[in-house]
Amino acid sequence: MTTEFDIIKKYFTQATSNTDLGIGDDAALISTAAGHQLAVSTDSSVVGTHFFSHAEPYDIGWKSLAVNISDMAAMGATPKWATLALTLPKVSEYWLKEFSRGFFACAKNFHIDLIGGDTTKGPLNIGVQIIGEVPNGKSLKRSGAEENQDIWVSGTLGSAALALASINNPQFLLEDKTLFACLKALNTPLPRVTLGTALREVATSCIDISDGLLADLAHILTASSSEDKKLGAIIQLEAIPCIPTIKQWLSEEIVRKALLAGGDDYELCFTASRDRREAILWLAQKMKLPLTHIGRVNATGKLAVLHENKPVNISTLGYDHFA
Ligand code: ADP
Ligand code: MG
Repeated sequence: MTTEFDIIKKYFTQATSNTDLGIGDDAALISTAAGHQLAVSTDSSVVGTHFFSHAEPYDIGWKSLAVNISDMAAMGATPKWATLALTLPKVSEYWLKEFSRGFFACAKNFHIDLIGGDTTKGPLNIGVQIIGEVPNGKSLKRSGAEENQDIWVSGTLGSAALALASINNPQFLLEDKTLFACLKALNTPLPRVTLGTALREVATSCIDISDGLLADLAHILTASSSEDKKLGAIIQLEAIPCIPTIKQWLSEEIVRKALLAGGDDYELCFTASRDRREAILWLAQKMKLPLTHIGRVNATGKLAVLHENKPVNISTLGYDHFA
């Protein structure tokens, strides 16, 4: 019979590179570099809510860590350590092999040590805690945006939501190449850690897009508002970066919804003063990652989206509370 300890040893114990004491004792020991703060965050991935029960275990492993890394990127922190609380309905060697392969592929890609966790029986649930480092006082926060500053996003938006739309709605057809790119964005997102650290010197606020552009931008605006100044924003729909084949369908509800309200993109949305435009475009070039100016912060207290200078009715996207 496979015990809890066999599972931990066989699938989750790998050499560490920046840890004093890893898996095997009652707690792990880590040391932080001088002049740095720890950034700590946790996100659970639950079957039926965050992934389909039939999803590839490799993808579940990758993504359950990637979504946590994305929170580090949004803070301008460098992720270094993770713990994994795994609840499994049964022991499947295939599932564990593939899940741990995906998890460690993501961990290696971002130089993260798995330093501990917990293994229990129950409905499939993956809880990951991530710990990173950021130089004292240099973290990026949701607060800090100001009136007239530019709003930027990294990469392309909406791909993960379009993949979901095509899975849930067989009438919604994407050509093979586009569907493949969208499924990749949905299943194995690449959090923007290098960008996050570079933005420490440039951005005034930052968030990762996990719930959808409007919802996450609203968090920035709320956190950056004061009692006497409620911030809002104007976004240009046609400026929002997306995969090229989608661009011609901006009038379609399903595409608008994917770009404005689709979750799971794990790109960064940030604000910066207008005199940083050149610095940001230079950064984009250096990183070979599109950084796109999509709108501006204002003091209206409301979010507005324009398409070819006409207002887009965002309440139809499920965002009444911004109206
Ligand atoms: P304890 O009983 O002290 O909580 P456990 O028996 O749960 O310890 O775990 C033994 C060791 O294995 C600990 O170092 C723990 O952090 C680690 N561990 C348990 N489950 C996992 C997992 N899924 N992934 C990584 N490490 C794990
Ligand atoms: Mg335990």
